[in-house]
Amino acid sequence: MDIELLQGDITTRDVDAIVNAANSSLLGGGGVDGAIHRAAGGQLLEACRALRQTDYPEGLPVGQAVATDAFNLPARWVIHTVGPNALAGQTDPELLRQAFANSLAVAERIGAATIAFPAISAGVYGWDADDVARTAVQAVGNHPGTCLERVEFVLFSDRVARAFQAAFEELRG
Ligand code: ADP
Repeated sequence: MDIELLQGDITTRDVDAIVNAANSSLLGGGGVDGAIHRAAGGQLLEACRALRQTDYPEGLPVGQAVATDAFNLPARWVIHTVGPNALAGQTDPELLRQAFANSLAVAERIGAATIAFPAISAGVYGWDADDVARTAVQAVGNHPGTCLERVEFVLFSDRVARAFQAAFEELRG
């Protein structure tokens, strides 16, 4: 599996699936969530509302992931996951690991060969970028699936991009 680090806007990525750092409501928010909903168009919100009316009446739990169509995005699917919110006391790294790992598992289930991740929980949810980067790299390294050919991390800021670069160098030793 190829792993790539890119800097930029995840909504422009022409991959099978992009991952959304959503909140439990699934009804949109700021940061990358807002950008994805704006670029995908209103049908994405409708698809998320439908999930709330069916599988997730209480919202999507932290660490879980679910896919929808990607509508106007170049990607085919959006995989919504909820990272832990450090500012609300959710500081267990296992929850963050689950958000990455369950997104990868959903990608396998839907048959995605390429996937792009943002730095889940490294924005409004207040996690340290180095911790997010290390957790992300480990989750991809431990992913047992066979369908995924390429994993991209699409990083918005210099600070977060540097953190991911360092985590990869650590991994490759
Ligand atoms: P969370 O609530 O999970 O912390 P945020 O959206 O606030 O999610 O931030 C997660 C990361 O996504 C941050 O590093 C932020 O800079 C980054 N980000 C924001 N917009 C985009 C975008 N369009 N593409 C990629 N990354 C983005």
